Amino acid sequence: METFNRVSDLRNWIQQRRSEGFTIGFIPTMGALHAGHLSLVEASIGNGDYTIVSIYVNPRQFNDPDDLQKYPRPIEEDIRLLVETGTSVLFLPDDNDIYPAGDSSSIDFDPGYVAEVMEGKFRQGHFKGMAEVVYRLLMIVQPDKLYMGQKDFQQLTIVRKLIHDFRLPVMLEMGQTVREPNGLAMSSRNVRLSEEARTKSAIIYSTLMESKRMFEEDDPIESIKEKALQALSLYEGFDPEYFEIVDGITFRDIQSRHDSQFVVALTAVKVEGIRLIDNMIWTRSE
Ligand code: AMP
Repeated sequence: METFNRVSDLRNWIQQRRSEGFTIGFIPTMGALHAGHLSLVEASIGNGDYTIVSIYVNPRQFNDPDDLQKYPRPIEEDIRLLVETGTSVLFLPDDNDIYPAGDSSSIDFDPGYVAEVMEGKFRQGHFKGMAEVVYRLLMIVQPDKLYMGQKDFQQLTIVRKLIHDFRLPVMLEMGQTVREPNGLAMSSRNVRLSEEARTKSAIIYSTLMESKRMFEEDDPIESIKEKALQALSLYEGFDPEYFEIVDGITFRDIQSRHDSQFVVALTAVKVEGIRLIDNMIWTRSE
C-alpha cells in the first residue's frame, strides 16, 4: 500500500493508473477503522477498482470541540488493517492539504429539508462541514465510485444530492451497516463506551427491530415512535434524541405505512454522553 500526504503526489499516482485504463474506488473515512469501513474497502476491491481510502478528521464537521478532541486516532492500527484488506492507497492529508492557508471559502450547496431534520437539527453545521470536505475530497481524487455506509443514512442522502446538484461524475455505492454480534452498529465512537454501555446499547438495534414488527402490524406511527423512545430511555445514562419514521428520499414524516414505498426509521441516542446513531430500511419497492 502506498501512503500519500500531499495532494500532488496522490494526483500523480491516480493519473498514472488512469492512463493505464484502471478505475478508482474511493472510501473517505475519519479513521479508527472497524469492520464497517473495511466492508466498503472490500466492496471496492471486489469491483476490481484501485481502492483509495482517506483518513482525515475534518474539523469543520464537528459541532462539539470535545468530540473532535476525543475522536480516536489509532493510525498505526488503521494502516495495518488497510494493508491486510488490500487497499491500494491511503491518503492521509493534514488540514492544510484540504483547506490551503487563506482558503476559507465553502461551496454554495443547500441540501434543503433533508439536512434540516434529525442530525441536522441536533448537530448544527455538521452537514455543511461534511459536504464541504466530501466535495473537496472528490475534487482531489475524482473517483469512478464513491463508497459510503448506510449507517450514516442521512449523510449518504445529502452526498447523493451533492453529486446530483454539482453534476459530479461519480457513482455512489451504499454498503450495508455492519454490526457487533449484539446488533450495535459499529462506530469509531463505540470504543469510548464502557463495557456495560456497549452491551446495553444493543437496545438500539432491538428497538428498531421491534418497532419494525409493530409497523408491519399497522400500529399507529405515533405510538411506535413513543414506545421506541420509551424503550431507548429505559437504561440509566441513555438519552434518546430522536426516533423518526420517514420517507427515505424526502425525509418527510409518514403518517401510515401506505404513505411511502421507501420507509426508513432513524434514531440517535446519547449513551454516556456519546451520540450513537442507527437506522433501518423498513420498506423499499424496487
Ligand atoms: P466515518 O469514518 O465515521 O466518517 O465513516 C466513513 C464511512 O464508513 C462512512 O461512509 C460511513 O457511513 C461508513 N461506516 C461507518 N460505520 C459503518 C458501519 N457500521 N457499517 C457500514 N459502514 C459504516
